[in-house]
Amino acid sequence: MITALYNWAKYKAKKDNLLYSPMDFINVIRKLIIGDIEVTGLYSLYEPIAHLYETYPFENPNYQFKIIDKSKKERDVSQEEMKYLMIPKRGLTGKAKQSIGGSIYARTTLKNAVIITGGKYEKVREGKNIIHRVVISKNKLIDFWRQRLLDTYFQSRGEFIGEERICPFCGIKHEFKNLRFNPPINIFVENVTNYNPYLYEEPSHSICPYCAMLFLRTVLEEKGPEKIQFPKAKNAFIYNLPYEPENEYIYEIFNKNKAGEFLKKEIEDMGWRYSEIDALYYLLYLPLFIFRSLPLSLSGRIKPYVYIVFASISKQAEEISNHFVITRFDYLAKVGEMINEEGGVREIYNFKSRLNSFIEKFKKDQVVIGYKLIFRFLGKMLSEGNIDFIFLHSLLRKEINQKKKDNKIPYFTGYKYLNAFLKAKREV
Ligand SMILES: [Zn+2]
Repeated sequence: MITALYNWAKYKAKKDNLLYSPMDFINVIRKLIIGDIEVTGLYSLYEPIAHLYETYPFENPNYQFKIIDKSKKERDVSQEEMKYLMIPKRGLTGKAKQSIGGSIYARTTLKNAVIITGGKYEKVREGKNIIHRVVISKNKLIDFWRQRLLDTYFQSRGEFIGEERICPFCGIKHEFKNLRFNPPINIFVENVTNYNPYLYEEPSHSICPYCAMLFLRTVLEEKGPEKIQFPKAKNAFIYNLPYEPENEYIYEIFNKNKAGEFLKKEIEDMGWRYSEIDALYYLLYLPLFIFRSLPLSLSGRIKPYVYIVFASISKQAEEISNHFVITRFDYLAKVGEMINEEGGVREIYNFKSRLNSFIEKFKKDQVVIGYKLIFRFLGKMLSEGNIDFIFLHSLLRKEINQKKKDNKIPYFTGYKYLNAFLKAKREV
């Protein structure tokens, strides 16, 4: 999955017109460390990650910067000067903050930069808020910027240069160590990025600064792999991560918006009202979406993967509890064709209602568990074409019992949806 995340980061960088080569970038990082770096060099290190920092002077009231210029008077920071300060953007996720050293910004790196540039720093409490006040002279702003960039790309107090290594992502040889590295999804990556023996004390990754920068860019939600929420649990969602090393088409076509467009049309053609595509709809609609949108996969010209990851947030930390990989596009296209023949979105809707009634049995704080079970069930269907009948029985049993309690006759809607998976398996 780390390769898929890397490819995603490369795709996003290309979309944003970032045209540096790893070599160019690394040469600038080298200059950054030595200190012999021009403003254009500093800018080329800031630009790719600029979206992680505030761009307007008073956007983040927790930080108050004053500049002293020639007249020796204190004045406010201009918008043009914001790039030197690199104040972490408000509302960054914990992970994003951690990735750029933002979680220790006020505690360590800000003070560090102030000390190095001979500025003034004080922490003031205003009601519940802690305000960080910094005064810095204008002619020290470039030095401040350099220090901020060092603290962003490297872990603080680390040494920057070590023995020569090879980057596992781009293959380039480099000598940097203690780079900050966080992929946008919490996965275990030690065995990919760390060639040191197990329990070796030093946290040294062999990733190069260029590739670290590519990953860094995607820790902000807008640039990261797409998140799709489950309907009744705001803290549960899926990541949708397509992967195709040689063709960008998959990224353009295989996303929530495209699936939403198709689904909207089909739902409105039925005369129903379309609201929004959620994670459950997305998963259930996938075979039909593939059938409608990816004819190329059938001819074998595109051989994509799609990683679907279940994530939930508890106590502000993101937890990844399950994932599956879709590789059988020919099979799913067949399933989609079958669903289409059996009634299309009507059958999807029917099966979705069944799953919804399963979810309704859970208490509010337990709903995530319900979605986890559904995710596992659908994952087996979408990745292997296997229907977990044990789970299905438990799903039905609860429903039958409830109907009996309510004195209603149970009837099984959504059966055709499941049957499409079984029928397609016989044909592919
Ligand atoms: Zn690299």
